[in-house]
Amino acid sequence: MNIEIRGLSKIYPNGHAAIKNIDLQIGSGMFGLLGPNGAGKSSFMRILVTVQQATSGTVLMDGMDINTHRHEIRKMVGYLPQDFTFFSKLKTWEFLDYAAQLSTSLKRKERLARVDKLLHQVGLLEVRERMANKLSGGMKRRLGIAQALIGEPRLLVIDEPTTGLDPEERIRFRNILSDLSQKDVTIILSTHIVGDISSTCHNMAMLNKGEVAFKGSPEGMIEQV
Ligand code: ADP
Ligand code: ADP
Repeated sequence: MNIEIRGLSKIYPNGHAAIKNIDLQIGSGMFGLLGPNGAGKSSFMRILVTVQQATSGTVLMDGMDINTHRHEIRKMVGYLPQDFTFFSKLKTWEFLDYAAQLSTSLKRKERLARVDKLLHQVGLLEVRERMANKLSGGMKRRLGIAQALIGEPRLLVIDEPTTGLDPEERIRFRNILSDLSQKDVTIILSTHIVGDISSTCHNMAMLNKGEVAFKGSPEGMIEQV
């Protein structure tokens, strides 16, 4: 997918400018959005997935303006928010099946096939019968990814997915994302950890106080710092 972002700004009702005049072009593969807390990463991502509107500027996805094509865009996009939690007392597979019922029109048999395919993909097939809210932190994060993938999106937007994960889970997570980006899914990943980006992303941008402080390759950024 080709994403063209021009002059994007977000000023919250309290007057705080979280995103300031961002220009970016994002192509296929995995794109990293690096920045400290408060840099504007979540605000930027919420705009991309159309759960929040920009104050000004445009975003084109394969030429479609996200403001005027919100319905189509939502079908093409999967989103894992930073504060994703499981409120429900559902088994792991039931939780995914519930997500599938909300975001696809698949019949039960096809839905269950997709649920198990995704559980396999994120390494949760063995714990499919376990209550979702009893999974480990890393497993919950992987279930979050599976949930974001349930509608077979062409763009996956994930907000700080590795925060709080141990090194082993972090590597596991990176590998899942690398596999996905080989399958023609565009991935935008936000993080405050350079290592999350340098090992997986071809392209990146660094946000600081709502502005793009760097854009290019992770290697280019490391040379510059
Ligand atoms: P990050 O994801 O990089 O931590 P955020 O987009 O969450 O950055 O936040 C950027 C800035 O905007 C922060 O200063 C935050 O407090 C502020 N902010 C985020 N959401 C809102 C909101 N709904 N209203 C007012 N300020 C907000
Ligand atoms: P909008 O004005 O775009 O509708 P909201 O005010 O509804 O945004 O807030 C969007 C999200 O940001 C909510 O989850 C809210 O809890 C959170 N939020 C609100 N104010 C702040 C803030 N000052 N800093 C960080 N997050 C905030």
